[in-house]
Amino acid sequence: MLVVTHDLAAARFIAEKILVMYLGQIVEEAPTELLFNRPIHPYTQGLLAAIPTTEPGRLAPTLAGEPPDTLERHVGCPFTPRCYKVQDPCRWDMSESQVYEV
Ligand code: SF4
Repeated sequence: MLVVTHDLAAARFIAEKILVMYLGQIVEEAPTELLFNRPIHPYTQGLLAAIPTTEPGRLAPTLAGEPPDTLERHVGCPFTPRCYKVQDPCRWDMSESQVYEV
């Protein structure tokens, strides 16, 4: 069974495996407990951090910024405007393969 949800907290109790999507693309895929314990993609980390908690003193951080306009062509990783790990190569245009001669 496939369940599509924005509620990761609920998904934890019903899914064996979770695929996280951003702008229609899968950005992370992992068995549920692994995803919750060791999220790799910054978007997954942001989603998990946004789950409300009753833990004292812990405010739920939110993902910064807004998703880019999907009607505009963007170059590189679409998560760059919101990513705390962004680096120059993240903005490189990888849409065309390049051949370098040595
Ligand atoms: S902006 Fe860079 S570091 Fe952040 S998710 Fe995209 S590729 Fe990864």
